[in-house]
Amino acid sequence: ERLSRALADLEALRRQNEELQEIFKDISVNNLNDEQKEAIENFQSRLNKAEHSFNSNNLGYISSKEEPNTQYELLRRRLYSNTKELWYFIHSGLLDLHKKSKSLIYDIEQLAEVDGYATWREREANDLSNLVQERFRFLQNPKNCDSAKKLVCNLNKGCGYGCQLHHAVYCFMVAYGTQRTLILKSKGWRYHKGGWEEIFKPISDTCTDPTGESVSNWPGHQDTQVINLPIIDSLSPRPPYLPLAIPEDLAPRLTRLHGDPIVWWVGQILKYLLRPQEKISKIIQDTMTKMGFKRPIVGVHVRRTDKVGTEAAYHGIEEYMSHVDEYYNYLELKRPVGQRRVYLATDDPKVVTEAKNKYPHYEIIGDPSISKTAAVSTRYSDTSLFGIILDIHMLSMSDYLVCTFSSQVCRVAYEIMQNYYPDASAKFRSLDDIYYYGGQNAHNVVAVWPHEPRRSGEMTISAGDLIGIAGNHWNGFSKGRNVRTNQIGFYPSFKVKDKIETAKYPTYSEMHK
Ligand code: GDP
Repeated sequence: ERLSRALADLEALRRQNEELQEIFKDISVNNLNDEQKEAIENFQSRLNKAEHSFNSNNLGYISSKEEPNTQYELLRRRLYSNTKELWYFIHSGLLDLHKKSKSLIYDIEQLAEVDGYATWREREANDLSNLVQERFRFLQNPKNCDSAKKLVCNLNKGCGYGCQLHHAVYCFMVAYGTQRTLILKSKGWRYHKGGWEEIFKPISDTCTDPTGESVSNWPGHQDTQVINLPIIDSLSPRPPYLPLAIPEDLAPRLTRLHGDPIVWWVGQILKYLLRPQEKISKIIQDTMTKMGFKRPIVGVHVRRTDKVGTEAAYHGIEEYMSHVDEYYNYLELKRPVGQRRVYLATDDPKVVTEAKNKYPHYEIIGDPSISKTAAVSTRYSDTSLFGIILDIHMLSMSDYLVCTFSSQVCRVAYEIMQNYYPDASAKFRSLDDIYYYGGQNAHNVVAVWPHEPRRSGEMTISAGDLIGIAGNHWNGFSKGRNVRTNQIGFYPSFKVKDKIETAKYPTYSEMHK
């Protein structure tokens, strides 16, 4: 069965190869630099190889030992995201080419499966994760806690669970950057009075004492033993170790592997921090089985109550479900889907009932009693904590996420999701914001193509311009400020690429000495 599916996949790939070749023709070769030309040639040769393997009925190419070069991986992902942007554009009604762009997305995704690099991607993701997890353990378990340099952070930021996790992750980044063991103070935690360690494994086995010979508030001095870190909102001076920067020494490998390296980096820190205690882990597993969590499944997060009208706009369930439909329609291009399933997390119990009534052909997994505890009046309680841990876990385990990235609940789920795939950066659809990290430095993108305004509100860009991105309007256009001209306006999303920020973090080379 696997073989026939692979053959069917390849057949589709072959059919659409021509269309891809057409696209390459459209990309005027004169506008490309040597690196881009080489990457495109490499990309085309992979397509040909895949096709050749198909023709000679030789599936041996699937297990390849080669590594892709960075340009190839970047181009493959760019083709994918540009085609998706094209799809948004088409879908917003401006162009009538529906089927074509969707099958292109399918082809490009197929390419990652048949180009022979899948094994490399898995291995590289594992190696990178092992590398940083080992560094985290080293940092967090100093031989002598009495003399260890420490960074103290109080978990109790006055906000929700997702926000507090992001607070802890930020503290961890600064700890890793300053090479100080992080001490997380959590007694009297608003979600669980007993503290962090009753729910999650301690973040250190050897060093949890926040005291020391010298104590100072941030920034302190190199030789101050204990430094207290404030919340990111009142951090001064700001160290370089803040999102969206990733560690410089990991950047070459990460940019090749992953479509959004900062999300990977945050995901790795969450992986270290959120190791549940055995009893919690068991309850999560049991609940998952009891609720009937099965694949395929789309995770939907509907944030209402205190968020709506203050920090985010209202979105009806229909809007979420239209993207779920789209996901499944697309999946059906690949294989029979059978029962369409959704895991629905929300802080409004009415949403679960509404979804079940309106979408009877869907299996909607969701527990209104969990949502009930998420009400603002009962939010900071043990039962509510358990509900949100469970919801985030299920969302992160889903095949795809539909939500509003204005909510930290969904952003956390998306970050954790990265731990289950070499690159899950494209497995989401946000109804509002693009991914961001509260307190982050400017998010810039770099123009790859020039743009002249065609309609009012659009701005002029030249290749190489830096643009501070404000948001994606999910209709093919994004909004931003051109740093060179200071002009604010819309530009076609496919004409830019993300600027990956790096910071000089320590490299932990003494770890094996
Ligand atoms: P944000 O306010 O949406 O950005 O996210 P926060 O996590 O900082 O705060 C919202 C809080 O509301 C969460 O931590 C939960 O306590 C609660 N909440 C919001 N959405 C859900 C949900 O889908 N399920 C559960 N169980 N709780 C939720």
